[in-house]
Amino acid sequence: MIIQIRNAALTYQSLNGEVEALRDVSFDMEEGELCSIVGPSGCGKSTLLGAVAGLEQLSSGEVIVDGENVSAPSAKVGLMPQRDQLFEWKTIWDNVTLGLRVQKQDTPAKRAYVRELLERYGLSEFMHKRPAQLSGGMRQRCALIRTLATEPRILLLDEPFSSLDYQTRLAVSADIHAILRREGKTALLVTHDISEAISMSDRVIVLSHRPAVVKSIHDMEELRSLSPLQRRDEATFHIHFNTIWKELDIHA
Ligand code: ADP
Repeated sequence: MIIQIRNAALTYQSLNGEVEALRDVSFDMEEGELCSIVGPSGCGKSTLLGAVAGLEQLSSGEVIVDGENVSAPSAKVGLMPQRDQLFEWKTIWDNVTLGLRVQKQDTPAKRAYVRELLERYGLSEFMHKRPAQLSGGMRQRCALIRTLATEPRILLLDEPFSSLDYQTRLAVSADIHAILRREGKTALLVTHDISEAISMSDRVIVLSHRPAVVKSIHDMEELRSLSPLQRRDEATFHIHFNTIWKELDIHA
């Protein structure tokens, strides 16, 4: 198991008192697996991702990544934020190699790897352009390449498509899914979109209302070999959707 989350609990201390975000969250992920976390707004999804990234300290329980207890950010885990956070005044090349410089990994071999990624995913001709000259989907691909550049074993994606319109979102999520699969990455995705979770993942983890506990875990076994767009045509897709929708109990 590359990720083991054991009875994770986290209570924030703030000026207005305590906020219990996570009560008891446990699940494991295998290397190469793509999992999504869904749950009602404010239930603790980003908090959980932050704990796996080593950005949030658990009050109790543990997160183990690749056999080591997580207590601080590590190069093994790459985080792709909600907005692409590309620097508008920098070229695409400078943007995608930023992590290499920050992590002091700016070696010829790593640069060659980034060049290869840009080539493989159709961005090499935009290397010297600025982010504003790219479409929303291309920007998202750039943000992913920037995260892949430092070769983390695990990618955490926090609502990565929320700034895109619906049509673009469908295309970009298929695109990102293909890249994650091809690069063999383990990825944990937070989303509030049930369809996106089913179409992108091997398993969907449903969290309860805050304070979060794992309500259920759904295996997309019969959909795994299909692309996100193909999955949406399957009868089982809709069965999973209805089950998860009822569990989320949005109106409660
Ligand atoms: P989600 O991602 O599911 O929408 P979050 O993990 O962002 O939920 O937040 C879970 C709860 O914790 C929310 O009630 C939020 O207001 C609270 N929260 C998040 N970050 C902090 C913080 N730094 N201090 C205090 N409360 C926080």
